Amino acid sequence: MSLTHMQIKELLDEGRCHECEGVGPDHVCVHIAAIAELPTRFGHFHIVGFYNNKDYKDHAAIVKGDIYGGEDVPVRLHSECLTGDAFGSLRCDCRDQLEAALTAIGKMDKGILLYMRQEGRGIGLTNKIRAYGLQDYGYDTVDANLALGFRDDEREYSIAAHMLFSLKVKSIRLMTNNPKKITDLSQHGVVVNGRIPHVIPPNQYNLFYLQTKAAKSGHLIDLEGKLHLPEQGDRPHIEGMAPEIVENIQDL
Ligand SMILES: [Zn+2]
Ligand SMILES: [Zn+2]
Repeated sequence: MSLTHMQIKELLDEGRCHECEGVGPDHVCVHIAAIAELPTRFGHFHIVGFYNNKDYKDHAAIVKGDIYGGEDVPVRLHSECLTGDAFGSLRCDCRDQLEAALTAIGKMDKGILLYMRQEGRGIGLTNKIRAYGLQDYGYDTVDANLALGFRDDEREYSIAAHMLFSLKVKSIRLMTNNPKKITDLSQHGVVVNGRIPHVIPPNQYNLFYLQTKAAKSGHLIDLEGKLHLPEQGDRPHIEGMAPEIVENIQDL
């Protein structure tokens, strides 16, 4: 069962007249502006476009099944990464994380991926490329990380919470390997009834990279010894990984 025409109409009608004082330090208010079906290679979804009264970033929700009034709806938060998501960059594992989430949600009765348009942790594409460029010239990652490091997590969680309220979701289970994210989201009023480990199925290309990322706390090194930047803030839990390693990941 997916969203019905009635539900879509109600969501759009409410979106049209929604007003609130906004969420987070910037008082951001988002409202649902458009909904359409989105068949994908991962399954049949609806895509929900949100209008945002502050910076006009079009956050989006990829919705599977009937989530209207839903309880314990599996939810994944993903921050936009053009280089990873679209171009398949190996400087991060965003695409692996995104594909794993959509594959998992595609197999579920219902679920939501919130796609937050906060490229490069909110600093934008050009600044992210600038940070990559610094690394290419051997700058230590401190500078580059500084450039990339000031994503306002507060903002991300408050907007995500607002999006879930707009979608009439009553409670969720968060798809993450980072229990702290549950606290963050709860602080913004979302009822989080549990966590679903975000397990990434490895392939011959990403296995080493993902293992390295999982093994090195925050310091990401690929086959060529180059350092990379974490972007999704979630260390990978790779399919087949030993339970004690998984435990350690969750402790971070
Ligand atoms: Zn609002
Ligand atoms: Zn990325």
